[in-house]
Amino acid sequence: MPPTSSSCYWHGSQQLMQLLNQNKNKKKRLHEFSGVATEVGCKVKKFKEGDKVEVGCIVGACHSCDNCANDLENYCPKMIFSYNAPYYDGTITNGGYSDMMVANERYVVRFPENLPLDAGAPLLCAGITVHSPMKYFGLSNPVSCSIPPKKCRLHTGRKLVADTAMGGMKETQEMIDFAGKHNITADIELIPMDYVNTAMKRLAKADVRYRFVIDIGNTLASA
Ligand SMILES: [Zn+2]
Repeated sequence: MPPTSSSCYWHGSQQLMQLLNQNKNKKKRLHEFSGVATEVGCKVKKFKEGDKVEVGCIVGACHSCDNCANDLENYCPKMIFSYNAPYYDGTITNGGYSDMMVANERYVVRFPENLPLDAGAPLLCAGITVHSPMKYFGLSNPVSCSIPPKKCRLHTGRKLVADTAMGGMKETQEMIDFAGKHNITADIELIPMDYVNTAMKRLAKADVRYRFVIDIGNTLASA
């Protein structure tokens, strides 16, 4: 992600990112980058150097439409993906294949201090896509159920399955805060960068049990 002329942008050391499938055009399909803020612009209010942070699928939007005004940047017609999309200045966003990323603070979420950066990284994908529709349908309180599992049934008046491709930034922050409060992380398989091609082959064969997360920071540090 190239820096823009504004000075209020965040620089983050990108240590980990989630590996998703690649399409036939070999386009970059990596999103959810967690790391530590290494530099903060003069107008940034939400973060300071050293904060754990994460960036998801979205790095820009118009900021003037009704959706943007209502914290639904994910529905903005000018929403900018963090990968394979023209940024404001026309350059193409590159996802997380880097040890550094620059992003507008609006699209950076505060990562819970108590969660590990690797296992928490996929939450901006798999977490928000569940949290957002659950909240929409009034299922925002955690439900715990004790064994035996057969006795634990969720009764609802209607059957409905819902998901979403992503959430707005406010809702995404709510989700990750919820995960931090309840110590929720994802099951992952942490891999070094030079394992990516093998991981892709395994993805193609469905030979993967958990989310792949690439440890970019440590891979580069040991190179
Ligand atoms: Zn908009």
